[in-house]
Amino acid sequence: MQNDIERYQRQLLLKDVGEAGQKKLFNARVLVCGAGGLGSPALTYLAAAGIGYIGLCDFNIVSISNLNRQILYTQAEMGKQKAQIAKEKLEKFNPDVKVRAYSERLTEDTTGDIFKNYDVLIDATDNFPSRYLINTAAYKNSVPLICGAVCEFEGILTTIVPKENTSCFQCIYPFKPSTDLTSKTFGILGAIAGIIGTMQALETVKLILGLHCLKNKILIFNGIENIYRVKEVIKRKNCKACHISVE
Ligand SMILES: [Zn+2]
Repeated sequence: MQNDIERYQRQLLLKDVGEAGQKKLFNARVLVCGAGGLGSPALTYLAAAGIGYIGLCDFNIVSISNLNRQILYTQAEMGKQKAQIAKEKLEKFNPDVKVRAYSERLTEDTTGDIFKNYDVLIDATDNFPSRYLINTAAYKNSVPLICGAVCEFEGILTTIVPKENTSCFQCIYPFKPSTDLTSKTFGILGAIAGIIGTMQALETVKLILGLHCLKNKILIFNGIENIYRVKEVIKRKNCKACHISVE
């Protein structure tokens, strides 16, 4: 990082970043679960900010229907492993950054071993089973989690900090929808994923720097009306996911 300080010149000027903050970013380890519509912008801005070690987890290959929102990939890369392509591009984009690619599906058995190596997790997946799995494992391993989700013209964002005993994703969504929605079954405008994924990167940077975050709050963005709303989230007394470390 020392050789390439000019790269971060514009953010070093920020009083909330400065040299001390940039060092914190460089020493941070962030894992992004899902390198798709949310993961593409989140990963790109984390690498741009100089997060020193980035993990990314995605077992999918690039398909043509990804390309309206998954901006890390091109048509020429169809059929290739997303995790590997993303790693190569991010390391080229910012050679200061080390990227580890996991081309595997996260399971209850693997999450703990992987998650405990990171300071912050980003949930950039697209289905409820993955979200519940990541949320529970984040709490169990006491790693902060930035959750983002998009559907049609709307997106949500919340920040979960187990050490501070905040509310979790399952406090907000205690039950999965009766039909298990995946990104194949509902529409998404690419720019909405771009906005929420970028906000996940912003939230991660702020958390690392110790700035204000969406703890015990949910941000809801409506892209049709251009409205952001922030609501308080109450920690649910009987939430199965986030009372592990409370008892
Ligand atoms: Zn909870």
